Order: sequence, then structure tokens, then C-alpha cells
Amino acid sequence: MPTPLHNLKGAVLKAPNIVFEGNNHKVIDSRISHHNSSSSKESIMYRVASLMSLVLCIVTLLAAGPRPSPHCKPHQPITVTWLGHAAFEVISYGGTNLLIDPFITYNPATPDQRKDLTQYKPSAILVTHNHGDHLGDALEISKKTGAPIIITYDQVEELKLENAIGCNIGGTITIGDVTIHVVPATHGTTKDGISFGYVLTFKDGRSLYHTGDTWINADMVFTQSLYHPDIVLTCAGGGPFTQDPETAAYEMRTILNPSVIIPMHYGTWPVLATENDVVEAFKNDRRLKIMIPGEPKTF
Ligand SMILES: [Zn+2]
Repeated sequence: MPTPLHNLKGAVLKAPNIVFEGNNHKVIDSRISHHNSSSSKESIMYRVASLMSLVLCIVTLLAAGPRPSPHCKPHQPITVTWLGHAAFEVISYGGTNLLIDPFITYNPATPDQRKDLTQYKPSAILVTHNHGDHLGDALEISKKTGAPIIITYDQVEELKLENAIGCNIGGTITIGDVTIHVVPATHGTTKDGISFGYVLTFKDGRSLYHTGDTWINADMVFTQSLYHPDIVLTCAGGGPFTQDPETAAYEMRTILNPSVIIPMHYGTWPVLATENDVVEAFKNDRRLKIMIPGEPKTF
């Protein structure tokens, strides 16, 4: 009897065979096969078994827990400055200066001495999505400095950006000595486009993950597995918009395994979690680093 798994000509999409090798797995075969109705039952059973294999694969990754960073090179300093809310300036050892979500002029959490936009000399400006508290002053800083804005390709068109690098989830961009990976976030945007986070990888093998606005999501399993972020700038402000501090803390215990956790997107407005809320949620987690807006820290 035909099932929704069949197409109109009786072809069945076979799930890929997955071979387990310790914590690794690989797909060895994927194809479309045709058959008659007598083999439907076997095919459905095969698909169920394959689906169970896929589920087992994800469960295995989760059960294995966060993987430690494999890097073993001497650290090369990474300088991180929180500018309040989700805005950061990140400077690599090689001098690549990346501004992320530069909401500055109207950001209540940005200290006065960091309000003057002429002090920013970014190599590129990364925007996780086009809400005002993230796009912020990106266009003006880009015009003043010539730095390209990195943002979802759809929003390059929507915002009519002339100096931009359009990207999307899974994409990779190199700026100076930093490689930027675009990873999923669970959040909305205005009109076209999507929200995402960025993983920056550095020459010493370490990586920094800016989660963007998000809730905990299963894609973080693969962000951890692929990029093993050492420093996580995690959304933790809660309120009606994003994950709360408790969820962020749970995420760091169960999926991600950084050596440094820098919370953000809290305390900007009364509707968001306070610093005390964040500290309470992370309890005695020594990896938590509460940043003071405007004060650089080197890791
Ligand atoms: Zn936001």
C-alpha cells in the first residue's frame, strides 16, 4: 500500500546507511530505488531502521558530551571588549579588528567614552540579524571606515548595502587572520533574512562563538563538535526575546564546553535579566566572566 514515503512513480527515498566508528559516523550510501508493492514492507522497515540509526547517532553525540578543544598550540592573545548588550570588539593576535552587532549610539549599556564612533577602526563589521539592537551603528561605521558589513545575503538586498559581504548558515569568510563560520541561531528578523551566530577561529587553533540572539538548539551540538569554541559570548538576557540565564547555563553544562563564558544581552533594559540573575544562574561556574562594558580583556 503506498505511503507518503513513496513518490508518484513508486520510487522510495532510501535513508543513508550510517556506519558507526566510535564517536564518528559516516554516510556510505544514499540513493533512490524503485520496487514493486511486495517489497514495500521491507523498504519501510529498512527506513525505520535507518531513521533509528540517525537518532542513535545524535543521541551518541549528546551522550559523549562536549568535546574538548583539540588545539595544542601556544595561545596567541585575543582581546575582547564588551560594548554593552550584544556588541563586542574582538581583536586577533594579528590585528584583525572585528566589530560584532555594534549597537552603540542608543545603547544604554555602552559607556560614554565608547560612544564616539570615530574611535572604531574595524576590519569588518559582523551583524547577526537586522534588529535595531544588533544592526545598530553598522552602516554609519562602515561608511566612515570602509569596513564591509557581514550579514545575511537577503539583508544585503533589503538594506541596499553597497559595502557588504552577504552570507548564510554554513558559510565561511576569511578576514585577515580570522576565519568566520556562520552558524544557526533560533530567533526572528524583520522581513527577509534569518538570524545566526558566528564562530571566529584564530591561528592558534582557538575559537570564539558569538551566539547571536537565540534559544538553546540542537544545532549547537554540531557547532561544538565542529568548532569546539573556547570562548562563548552567550545570549543570556531572557525576558520575552531570548534564552534566559538558566537556559544559557544549562547549555554550557550539557552541549558547549568553553573555557570562558561571557554572558551578554542582559541588563540593557529593565525587561531583561540583571547581572545578579546571571551570576545566580551560573552559580559557582568558574568559567563565567562578567565583563564591564568598555573594558578590554585579553584571553
Ligand atoms: Zn537582541
